[in-house]
Amino acid sequence: MIQMKNVYKKYPNGIVALNGLTVGIEQGEFVYVVGPSGAGKSTFIKMMYREERPTSGQMLINGVDLATLKNKKVPLLRRQIGVVFQDFKLLPRLNVYENVAFALEVIEETPEKIRKRVMEVLELVGLKHKARMFPTELSGGEQQRVSIARSIVNKPKVVIADEPTGNLDPETSWDIMDLFEQINATGTTILMATHNREVVNNRRHRVIAIEGGLIVRDVAGGDYGYEG
Ligand code: ADP
Ligand code: ADP
Repeated sequence: MIQMKNVYKKYPNGIVALNGLTVGIEQGEFVYVVGPSGAGKSTFIKMMYREERPTSGQMLINGVDLATLKNKKVPLLRRQIGVVFQDFKLLPRLNVYENVAFALEVIEETPEKIRKRVMEVLELVGLKHKARMFPTELSGGEQQRVSIARSIVNKPKVVIADEPTGNLDPETSWDIMDLFEQINATGTTILMATHNREVVNNRRHRVIAIEGGLIVRDVAGGDYGYEG
């Protein structure tokens, strides 16, 4: 479902973040992206939701070429992709329900159907009872659950997570991993950049290691592979 071929990314300041990267990811896979700081992980991930564009090379998601995709078609792409960030990026003035509902692409849906879908995903992440609370009233783990609910509310084919446990304590991180694995079990592809060695080593999935803008290791059920 995701095909990158010779993807090269040079930022305006001249830094080459991706140096001719080629990879294929199938629907339903769970993939960790690991590597040292500055390796190109975030850039790699940003390509997927067209936050950044390749300078050259080919990048297909479900047959759609992101390199040539018109800007006005980007919302259509984003509907198929959920994104989860390390710092949650919730809207502080909206409550939990509203944060999730706000992300829902409403295409001639009745208010009842909207409410049903939002409550369904809040139940899935275990926060139905906190629907009226505001982000500042929640723990970090709860905020990440809201952002996960937001990422799946449109039933995307792929969820992309950039360091989703980076701001969470170990215990909370395991709960968040449970959620991602549960979402993956419904057939959703998960692509997760992480520095969390414990998580990668204990919840085995495909590991792609990036260094210097290239894939240096790609192993099914691999380990984290870096010290510390
Ligand atoms: P990682 O996520 O592995 O830390 P990044 O993809 O963030 O790596 O960064 C790869 C390289 O590109 C680094 O040298 C970084 O400084 C540079 N870089 C990242 N984003 C930008 C940007 N918007 N403009 C210029 N350089 C950037
Ligand atoms: P339906 O379309 O009949 O609701 P789905 O297979 O879409 O059935 O969803 C089944 C359950 O899995 C729902 O409760 C839904 O909230 C949950 N779910 C969790 N993550 C996703 C996802 N990414 N896409 C679809 N459903 C998901």
